[in-house]
Amino acid sequence: MTEIVRAACIIGWPVEHSRSPLIHNYWLKTYGIAGEYRREAVPPDQFGAFIQSLALHGYAGANVTVPHKEAALALSRPDERARAVGAANTLWFDGGLRSTNTDVEGFLNNLDVCAAGWDRALNKAVVLGAGGAARAVVYGLLSRGAQSIVIVNRTPSRADALRGRFGDRVRIARWDELNDQLGGAALFVNTTTLGMAGQPELAADMGRLPSHAVVADLVYVPMRTPLIGTAKARGLRTADGLGMLLHQAVGGFALWFGKKPEVTPQLRALLEADLDPSAR
Ligand code: NAP
Repeated sequence: MTEIVRAACIIGWPVEHSRSPLIHNYWLKTYGIAGEYRREAVPPDQFGAFIQSLALHGYAGANVTVPHKEAALALSRPDERARAVGAANTLWFDGGLRSTNTDVEGFLNNLDVCAAGWDRALNKAVVLGAGGAARAVVYGLLSRGAQSIVIVNRTPSRADALRGRFGDRVRIARWDELNDQLGGAALFVNTTTLGMAGQPELAADMGRLPSHAVVADLVYVPMRTPLIGTAKARGLRTADGLGMLLHQAVGGFALWFGKKPEVTPQLRALLEADLDPSAR
C-alpha cells in the first residue's frame, strides 16, 4: 500500500537561509509522520500564481516569509489575528485558503516559557521598531493586557501608523529618547534588525531598566545577540529570537500534519548547532 505523504513548504524570496525546514522535518521524523517540508523560492511577481496552485503543487499549506507576508494576507481568508497584524505567515486549507500569523503566539509562548509571569504587571513595555514583526508583538502585548506600549522607531511615520492601527494604549517616543523610556519599563523588545549579523549594533542602556524587567530580542543570527548578552549580564530575564522562531512553528505544523509538536531542548540544540557550528 502506498503511504500518503503530506507536504508543506516555506515560500520566500530569498529562502535558502530559512531554518523552518530543519524544524518541521525534525518534528516529522520525531513523530513518525510521513511528510515533507520544503523550501520554495518564489519571486514577488509569481507569488499569486504559486499560491493559487498551492494544492496542485501537493501542499497542505505553507509558511510565508519576506517579502510575501502582506500578499499572503490579501490572497487568503485571514483569521482575526492575521487581519489585525496586517500580515500572514501561515497558510492552510479549510474550505478555501486560510491564513494566520503565528509570530504572535511565537513571541508570547516563548516569553511564557523563558520568563514565567512576565505579563503579571505589564504597566509599560518599550518596543523598538515598527515593521511587520513589531505589529505582531504589539498585538500580542495588547492581548496580554499591556497598559502602555511605547514604540521607538528610526522612521517616525511608521511608528505613527502603528499607533493608528492599535489605538490609545500605544504611545510614540523619539529615537533619542530610548534610554529615558527604558526607566520603569517591565519589558523591552527589539523588533528591528539592529544587532543582526552584518547590521549595526543596538545601542541601548540596559542599566536604565528596573531589575525585574524582561528583555526580548527577535534577532536570532547571531544566536546570542549583544542585547541578550548585556541583559543577562545585568541579571535580567531574557527571551531570545531562536525561542520565538521555534514557538511560531508549532501552529503551522499542527494545522498541516494534525499533531501539536513540542519545542524540546533537543530541537533547540539542533538549531543552535546549525546557527553556530563552532558551539558543537
Ligand atoms: P521590517 O518590517 O523590514 O522592519 C524592520 C525594522 O527594523 C524597522 O522598524 C526598521 O526601521 C528597523 N531598522 C532596520 N535597520 C535599522 C537601522 N539601521 N537603524 C534603526 N532601525 C532599523 O522587518 P520585520 O519583518 O519587522 O523583521 C524585523 C526583525 O525581526 C528581523 O530581524 C527578523 O529576522 C526578526 N523576526 C524574527 C522572528 C522570530 O521568530 N525570531 C519573527 C519575525 C521577525 P525603519 O522603519 O526606520 O526602517
